This record gives sequence, C-alpha cells and structure tokens, in this order.
Amino acid sequence: MTTANLLDFDLEGLAAFCEKLGEKKFRATQLYRWIHQRGASDFTQMTDLAKSLREKLATTARVEALPVITQHESKDGTIKWLFDVGDGNAVEAVFIPEDDRGTLCVSSQAGCAVGCRFCSTGHQGFSRNLGTGEIVAQLWFAEHFLRKHLKRDERVISNVVMMGMGEPLQNYSALVPALRTMLDDNAYGLSRRRVTVSTSGVVPMIDRLGADCPVALAVSLHAPNDPLRDDLVPLNRKYPIDELIEACKRYLAHAPRDFITFEYCMLDGVNDQPEHARQLVDLVRKHGISCKFNLIPFNPFPASGLLRSPQPRVLAFARTLSEAGLVTTVRKTRGDDIDAACGQLAGDVKDRTRAAERMAQRRAAEQRPVVLHPVRKTKTVSQEH
Ligand code: SF4
Repeated sequence: MTTANLLDFDLEGLAAFCEKLGEKKFRATQLYRWIHQRGASDFTQMTDLAKSLREKLATTARVEALPVITQHESKDGTIKWLFDVGDGNAVEAVFIPEDDRGTLCVSSQAGCAVGCRFCSTGHQGFSRNLGTGEIVAQLWFAEHFLRKHLKRDERVISNVVMMGMGEPLQNYSALVPALRTMLDDNAYGLSRRRVTVSTSGVVPMIDRLGADCPVALAVSLHAPNDPLRDDLVPLNRKYPIDELIEACKRYLAHAPRDFITFEYCMLDGVNDQPEHARQLVDLVRKHGISCKFNLIPFNPFPASGLLRSPQPRVLAFARTLSEAGLVTTVRKTRGDDIDAACGQLAGDVKDRTRAAERMAQRRAAEQRPVVLHPVRKTKTVSQEH
C-alpha cells in the first residue's frame, strides 16, 4: 500500500488528510508542528497524539527525507548538500551563515529548462520538477541537521531563497504549498520578507504568485536590453523586458517589500560596460519601478565560455547605478571553495531531455561568438574607498 509523504502537505492539505482518516482538524496542527518544528519523522515519538491516530499514521503516512549523497563545508561556514531525488537525479541546497541571519538556498527542479548561458544548472538541461515534499525536505533536513550540528535549540534558518537549481515559477503547483509551509507559524514561521522567490521572468506566474502567496521577489535581469537578454536568458524571447518589468510593478501591489531585487550577473565584456549601466538606469526610469540591484560576480565554469568581470569594472558599474539613485549592492561570493556559489549548482543531473546537447548544436549552427555585442573597452576605474 502506498503511503502519503506528509512533507508534501501544507497545513490545509494535512488537515484534509487527517479528515480522511476520521480525525479532527486540530490534530493536523499538532502533527505539522511535530514534523516541522521538532523534526520528527517517527510517529511513535509524537506522544501527544492519540495512540489510535499514531497507529493509523503508521500504515497510511510517512515523513520522507531526501537521501544525502554528499555534504561539503566551506572554510567560510557555507554548507552544501547534494540530495538524491531518484533515477540518477540530484539537487543541491546551500546554507549560508551570516552574523545576523542564516540563509538556505533551495532548489525547485532537477535541472532547468530555461538554459541561461551563465548558469551551470541551465547547461545541464531539464530533468524533472520536484514535488512539494522534495522542496520542503531540503529545509526540513537542513534546519534540523543544523540545530544538532550547531547545538542550538532555536531556529537556525531565518531566510530562504528559491535560487538553487531550477526556475521555481515553472514548478508553480509544487512551489506554492512549499512556500506556505515555510511561512506557517506552526512550521518554520518565516517572515514573507525573508522568503524570496527568484525568477528568470515567467510573467504570468509572477501575477499568480502575487495573488496566491506574495513573498519577496528577485528577478534575474542580467541585461538592460532585449537583444542581449534574449541571448543570456532565453525566456526573454517569450517575455521581453518591458513586459517583465510591468509584471514586477503589478507584483509590488502585493509584495511584502516595497521593491523588487534585480539580480545582475557581471560577465566580462558581455553586459558590464558603462553603456549597459546607463541603459539600466534609463530602463528603471522609463518604468518608474522601485527596485534594488544586486550585482553578482560570475562564477566561471568551463562550458560557459564566459569570464568574470574584473572587480574595478563591477565597482564602476555599481557606482553608475548608485549615482543615478539606484540602491546597488555587490554580492559577496560565498562557498566558492566547494562550488556552492551562485550559478555553480549543477548536481548530478541526468540530462534526459538532451537540452544541453540541443543548445550546443544550436550555438554551433549559429556560430555564435562567446563575447556578445562587443563594445569598445574603456579604461577601468580603480576602486575608491
Ligand atoms: S539561472 Fe535559474 S532560470 Fe536560468 S538556467 Fe539557471 S536555474 Fe534556470
């Protein structure tokens, strides 16, 4: 007999499951707390549940963690786990400790179909969507592992970013119940402001997320104009920049923060020139959107054929945005000694769709140069403190 994985349920789903077992709704809240707040997976431990319920659960339900294939800890405290999701697929989650927060970067898909040029997950191709339980299991495991590892009784993970492998808004039906569990006070109780969905720009789903479960939104922009973004983030061909930014503006009506974060991966000679920064300023002014920019040093991987922008150029780019009144940060690289930094998550994904091969063939056919839209290099500005 197949049993239900209780990590698949938000509280409403768990209540419906308990009702089917002939149990009162409040039992679901107790069960939910045992699982998510206390990390319990063994029903016999749940001593305030009636024995009859525990017996029913033993035959109808399970709390199924993802098997850990590897765990790597960086010298800066970052921890990366590779989880087995079956059939040769694996996904990664990364814990990033900071003085005032603990952030978990969570995956939503095994591989990714969007195929961004600078992303090692995108180069692996798409294998499959994760289920709600597989998304939640990353947080469930990490939180309770870390409490033991760090000998802490209270919550360790204060922030979740859906920035691991996959495009979360292309796995919407699994994502939303997972977000609800992250936010629920009977589970992880994270603030909406501290749960971030990062998207490459699936416009219709941005609107749905705003209506169904508004959390902080980050958008992988990476280019200030459509021709360049078409190449770096192929989804742009379907949802061009103007449409995307208008969707972001609509989202702000629901968002827990009063700005959208635009992520911008700095690629040497590709999107890091002074005119790109000026185009970004014009774009933001044209749409009048409240936003912040987060400039990300690219983490090179061999198949990309791309290089990291030199730091002085990143700082000059940041300065152009800042001087135009746009709040701009440069992301600190964390965990790069364990390949846990942004854009380096690849897992061990079996490329069933052969997307990577198709992409390589397409590029070869187009004889696309590695450096896109080359521009005259200007003298770089040195860092000023
Ligand atoms: S950056 Fe995000 S959307 Fe783009 S390929 Fe990587 S995982 Fe997919």
